[in-house]
Amino acid sequence: MKAALKHLAELSESKSASSEDFAHLPLPDTMSAMTVHRDETDLFRGLAFHEKDPRRSLHYEEVPLPEVGPNEVLVAVMASALNFNNVWSSLFEPSPGFNYIGEYSRYSPVNAKHNLDYHILGTDGAGVVVRTGTAVTRWKPGDRVMIFGPTCDVSSPEVFDDEIRDPHLMAYGFETNFGSFADFTLVREHQLLPKPEHLTWVEAASMTLVATTTYRMLVSRNGAQMSQGDNVLIWGASGGLGTFAIQFVLNGGGIPVGVVSSEEKAAMVRKMGCERVIVLPRDHGEDRFLDENGHTKNRQILRLKAQIRKLTGGEDPDIVFEHTGRSTFAASVAVARPGGKIVTCGSTSGYDHVFDNRYLWQTVKHIIGSHAANYYEAVQTARLIGKGFLYPTLSRVFPLAEGAEAFSMLHKGTHMGKLGFLNIAPEESMGIRDHELREKVGEEKIRLFRRDGEPRPAGQCAVA
Ligand code: NAP
Repeated sequence: MKAALKHLAELSESKSASSEDFAHLPLPDTMSAMTVHRDETDLFRGLAFHEKDPRRSLHYEEVPLPEVGPNEVLVAVMASALNFNNVWSSLFEPSPGFNYIGEYSRYSPVNAKHNLDYHILGTDGAGVVVRTGTAVTRWKPGDRVMIFGPTCDVSSPEVFDDEIRDPHLMAYGFETNFGSFADFTLVREHQLLPKPEHLTWVEAASMTLVATTTYRMLVSRNGAQMSQGDNVLIWGASGGLGTFAIQFVLNGGGIPVGVVSSEEKAAMVRKMGCERVIVLPRDHGEDRFLDENGHTKNRQILRLKAQIRKLTGGEDPDIVFEHTGRSTFAASVAVARPGGKIVTCGSTSGYDHVFDNRYLWQTVKHIIGSHAANYYEAVQTARLIGKGFLYPTLSRVFPLAEGAEAFSMLHKGTHMGKLGFLNIAPEESMGIRDHELREKVGEEKIRLFRRDGEPRPAGQCAVA
């Protein structure tokens, strides 16, 4: 490891290190980063989604450290975590990230530096602020932070209502460059949240995108506004969003009904307290609820409805938590109760949804589009994490240099919960300061998803 990074990692563990120590720390000229390349965007042309292998397009290489603009913050990334949008980037879907970066780089001179022939991926991370631009007021070197993905133009009028409506809103590390899969990352100050100090760096890094997105979908006034006693059908209940949906529903007095594809995944979500689980095994390319002509398969949908009612005592879902897309959307609309809500933030199995509209209009249901979260929603989510009301669902941790393997797992759906990376932090156990709260939340809960052996106390390195 480079001497400067080793020193940074040591400094981040020291309680006596001052802001000045971080501000004056000499930084290297280059950094290690996980990238995709502009001249390889045709790599997967003609292949179906499941035939594409992200390991072919990913590079782990040395790139120059980015320059810090007036409204930017340079964070030394101790750890990061994988999201499905990173898989989209690595497969150049729905279109190459370079297209979005081109757009981003044109609307402000500060953004021009993003337009490079490589794209550093990564939307979630945790680390220490090492440099701040002259216009930054909220953060200072030495601050320990979690990184929050959406980045907007703070001068857009829409931001003052809900920044998600900003036409210039971009997902950092997906639609912008200098993401979190590197030794250092460049962010705006409205992308930072205080690190929960009872968690390790990699645990903290694994939560932001999925937790904030789920908060907006289920809790916020911009989402489904779940009430006590609501039945919530959760697709992909063992995945990144799903495991946080279970937590929010249980915390808010709702009744989660999880859908997963295997008994192993069912056992895990039951351990989280989601007692009602439906196992629907699935093969890639299979549309369970649509026939080969793209019409809804009503018999399959009625079967699902019956399975849900069996678990809920005859009730239909008040809310359907959707992100799985084309394969499931027809069923989601049909099974929601009259007046119920289908809240969606994604389309893993395809964007062009098909559903029988009679199920929507005749029983006055609502479809709510949701995307990421605004900064206020993110701060509320971080508060809940910081108080120990939400726990990480990290299952495996990889050194960033070996991260391509994690991309492959997420792409194939062989993972559970979240997959994390160690960037600068040499050991997984690093980052904890509040041992009392950690003990209160419970090691068993915090490490519930770990798949590299029995739950181990923090302090032992367990890099998978
Ligand atoms: P994830 O960890 O891969 O979890 C998704 C789960 O969905 C999988 O574990 C899988 O579980 C299930 N699934 C996938 N395809 C399915 C299908 N055809 N039918 C039924 N279940 C299926 O991913 P994630 O982090 O939860 O993200 C999920 C989606 O939301 C992605 O498309 C992502 O891009 C999107 N997203 C959007 C936002 C936003 O702000 N708009 C934020 C976060 C994520 P089983 O194997 O058990 O079926």
